Amino acid sequence: MARVCPVCNALTAVTANCPRCGRPLADGGALENFFGPYSPYMDVESLQAGEPDRQCVHLLYCPSCGYDVRAAWALVEL
Ligand SMILES: [Zn+2]
Ligand SMILES: [Zn+2]
Repeated sequence: MARVCPVCNALTAVTANCPRCGRPLADGGALENFFGPYSPYMDVESLQAGEPDRQCVHLLYCPSCGYDVRAAWALVEL
């Protein structure tokens, strides 16, 4: 059993809409490096809990107006 990101593996479609113009946001890809074990953004408590890889963070962007936002998905077992 492996934990995988449902968005990276096309199990889930990104369905968020742009808060500015209402058009569908596109998936700009995973930002896995931001959540790696040596990430400066990871606080100490999370590391001690032993769950540094339960989320996959993606950059979502709006092709129409250029809005972008980061969104995290919980990993699922495959
Ligand atoms: Zn992902
Ligand atoms: Zn937009």
